[in-house]
Amino acid sequence: MNYDLIIIGGGPAGVAASVFAARKRLRTLLILKDFGGQSTVSNDIQNWIGTPHISGALLAKNLEAHVREYADDILDIKIDTFVTQVKKTKEGFCVITDDEQSFNTKTLLIATGSKRRKLEIVGADKFEHKGVTYCASCEGPMFSGKDVIVVGGGNAGFETAAQLLAYTKSVMLIEHEQIFRAERITVKKILANPKMVALNNTQILEIKGDKFVESIVYKDCASGKITEKKTQGVFVEIGQVPATQFIQGIVKLNDYQQIIIDPTNQKTNEDGIWAAGDCTNILYHQNNIAVGDAVRALEDIYVYLKTK
Ligand SMILES: Cc1cc2nc3c(=O)[nH]c(=O)nc-3n(C[C@H](O)[C@H](O)[C@H](O)COP(=O)(O)OP(=O)(O)OC[C@H]3O[C@@H](n4cnc5c(N)ncnc54)[C@H](O)[C@@H]3O)c2cc1C
Repeated sequence: MNYDLIIIGGGPAGVAASVFAARKRLRTLLILKDFGGQSTVSNDIQNWIGTPHISGALLAKNLEAHVREYADDILDIKIDTFVTQVKKTKEGFCVITDDEQSFNTKTLLIATGSKRRKLEIVGADKFEHKGVTYCASCEGPMFSGKDVIVVGGGNAGFETAAQLLAYTKSVMLIEHEQIFRAERITVKKILANPKMVALNNTQILEIKGDKFVESIVYKDCASGKITEKKTQGVFVEIGQVPATQFIQGIVKLNDYQQIIIDPTNQKTNEDGIWAAGDCTNILYHQNNIAVGDAVRALEDIYVYLKTK
């Protein structure tokens, strides 16, 4: 079978494109690990438009329900699967998955998002899951009543701090840049909590301990002063790595490994391949943006398929 379209990724972007593809009756295959994407770990998403509060888990359920509602006999769903490679063919592309299956398609939409960037300092690897964590929602409650550190002053860092403040004794956030990149309103609200301290222009140097994390060492970059602080938990929120390895060499990536797209229609440099959401080089990455980008891509894919 030669699909009209293969969509890779089950986050907001992949799901939005799938719903539109099914409703437009494009013969489509959605390949995904699971539904929901990155914010599945959030307890309370407050900016999913039309829904003032929703947990990440419920968002994931709703996304899956929406795709299945319209899948009918036109959209195939291959779940619990990773795409490992894409090859060019005479008629389009061949998509290869981690269970060694291959699928042919005329067009391709990449919506594979991104993953957490790892902290690369002494002790970070050694103490992962022994005090160092990349998922506050998953492991945070184990640190109830403890003094914890958040590394990273973007939205994810401050959102993590907000979660932790609900049950930890104190939260210290460390940001190596001069400014906190999180939204100003979020920063202001979280810094108003008396249990919260945030240090900018500060570099975390080392994580120490025996079996579990016991302290961190950090440097005030302005004065050069080095401090060791006792803590039991280090929550890392230092950015994302786009999931684009499997498409390297087929489409152009930028220095951050993001797929370079034309923002007017989401096209990559390769004829027949579009990309949307957090795996692309657009400036802001949010659920609503990922959805909008994917819909734009889908509209363009539809025109391409029907006019080519
Ligand atoms: C902790 C946290 C909280 C957030 N909170 C908010 C919020 O409150 N509001 C907001 O608007 N945004 C929030 N965001 C950002 C938002 O989650 C992302 O912008 C959004 O998920 C991007 O959607 P996406 O579909 O592009 O990618 P993703 O959500 O990253 O989904 C990509 C999917 O593709 C899958 N995938 C990756 N590689 C492959 C492959 N090779 N084969 C098959 N599947 C693959 C992944 O497993 C994943 O399920 C948050 C992010 C984080 C990390």
